[in-house]
Amino acid sequence: MEVVNLYKLSKDECCSDDVVFIGRNSDHYKAKFGFTRAIPELANPFKIGVDGERGECVLKYHKWLQQQIKTKNQFIIRAILSLKETDKLACFCPDPLKCHGSVIIRAYNYLKGIDVRDK
Ligand SMILES: [Zn+2]
Repeated sequence: MEVVNLYKLSKDECCSDDVVFIGRNSDHYKAKFGFTRAIPELANPFKIGVDGERGECVLKYHKWLQQQIKTKNQFIIRAILSLKETDKLACFCPDPLKCHGSVIIRAYNYLKGIDVRDK
């Protein structure tokens, strides 16, 4: 699984079955970019400029997602497990490592029992 930038995908790539939008306002962006899959429940509730700079928002999301898994929030856990290893998580972040998508991938690996230290 990897994080991709929606702006860097062609229209055809956006429509591909393995592209999953993970940002906010998915209905709005669906009309614009044409992706077919979106998981709005995994969007980052922390906003850049409101809750901190990009790195801080990703860190807050990391803590938030850990908490959801710890408290067994099935809504969130099911959303993560609905992903496939071959999926591409689409967002607008310029740096995939500073995107909440990288946190989702780690959570997916954790829930699937994949040892992330091997990667
Ligand atoms: Zn992002």
